[in-house]
Amino acid sequence: MRRVILAATLLAAIGCATNPVTGKREFNIVSQEQEIALGLQAHPQVIEEFGIYDEKPDLNQMVNRIGQRIAAVSDRPNLQWHFTLLDSPVVNAMALPGGYVYVTRGIVERMNSEDELAGVIAHEISHVAARHAARSMSQQQLAQIGLVLGSIVAGPAATEAFGGLVQLGAGLLFTRYSRQQETQADLLGTAYMTEAGYNPRGAENMLLALQRLDKGQSSGIERYFIDHPDPRKRVGDVRKEIAALESKNPSIGTTRIDRSPFVRQLDGVITAASTMQTTIRNNTVFNRRYGIIITAPSGWQATSEPGALFVLAPQKATGEGFIAQEIALRQMQQYPSLQSAIRSQLQNMGLQYVRSGTVSSATGQTFPVDLWRGATQSGTVAVESTQFAEGENAVVFLSLTPEQRGSSARDLASIVQRMRFDRAEARAAEPPRIRVATSRAGETWDELAQRATGRREDASAIAKLNGFDYPSSVPPGVAIKLPQDVAPDDR
Ligand SMILES: [Zn+2]
Repeated sequence: MRRVILAATLLAAIGCATNPVTGKREFNIVSQEQEIALGLQAHPQVIEEFGIYDEKPDLNQMVNRIGQRIAAVSDRPNLQWHFTLLDSPVVNAMALPGGYVYVTRGIVERMNSEDELAGVIAHEISHVAARHAARSMSQQQLAQIGLVLGSIVAGPAATEAFGGLVQLGAGLLFTRYSRQQETQADLLGTAYMTEAGYNPRGAENMLLALQRLDKGQSSGIERYFIDHPDPRKRVGDVRKEIAALESKNPSIGTTRIDRSPFVRQLDGVITAASTMQTTIRNNTVFNRRYGIIITAPSGWQATSEPGALFVLAPQKATGEGFIAQEIALRQMQQYPSLQSAIRSQLQNMGLQYVRSGTVSSATGQTFPVDLWRGATQSGTVAVESTQFAEGENAVVFLSLTPEQRGSSARDLASIVQRMRFDRAEARAAEPPRIRVATSRAGETWDELAQRATGRREDASAIAKLNGFDYPSSVPPGVAIKLPQDVAPDDR
């Protein structure tokens, strides 16, 4: 298990080193060489779990260009910095020790200028520069083969309730920084981006955009707010820092923030809940690689999550759900069979085996099913698992149901029975994309929503995506993102 090896490395790596930002010797920090080694080791796992969004090379180049420009003026300009755009609709940005910074497609599509994106990237560069992750890594719980059951199926709110069942995939990415570290990253990030020639108001606008999203009920954004504190407090911190920087150099806040050239680069980007691998339209999942097609049961919704091919869960979080996950077979080489590897993982997660059976899909494929039971802080849960191998990978299906099941509860069999396997049809399902248009004089968000998705009720989500409150007037002659679909959570 690579992650077990990684955990052992971490424990061995704790020592004493100098913090490049504070200049102080700190006790529980890893050396720069160890940080780089950890980043190098974990980076391929991150790529494996999320995938790179590389349909539009200009975007990858832009993310790298912004990152390198800010990193060069940071306190650690000599690290080998890597900036990666991940294929995930979730709104997030993360960093690994040693100089690996990640932004998701979900956060990039919600930005409205290069300065805003610079604000996101500068914040993550600051965590790396100040060695925040290196300090808290010893507290990380690392998953084994990374079954991402509890936190994803049950939603972040249930993470604590499900206690020992929760396993995070790329554990290192979800480092919980302290409030102090977050504040330091905001202040340092604002200073770095300014030094790199960006307008620090970009950081403020970025936080205001995230705050606007936070007002809606959006699971995509929830994860960001688990990782990052309340944007209202952050806006205050950043404003203070901008005022301090301006008192030294009054011109820093006057650099032009260009909206339209940035927004035009987002023309054609996949949007809403889809990824390059999985199209989600009208609550139906079309997975290209495995040809899986399934429509979420009524009252449920289909989403994509990091580390998962797709997730089906009730619209109102009830602690139940279904997750499809891809795992490389080479991670399970020491087991006699795929089923025994998955059984072993579930046992390690504290589940008790109950019994086995089989289930068939709507197109006739038969799968072995194991039923498990687990005790959590919020009661007993039933977990069902099945899996199949294809090429170099295994696909694992897991369902989670509280034992006190309501009438809406769905077990794994009822989901798999709805599933069809048809690769040609799955590949033909085009993901929704953003189209960029120029606003006309007098046009309203309602009219723009009509142009974008055909639904006026998407007006608020489309205004927010463009960095505006709803209702508000639309400035004429600017580039506007018109998504072909809006994620259910953004409505
Ligand atoms: Zn942070």
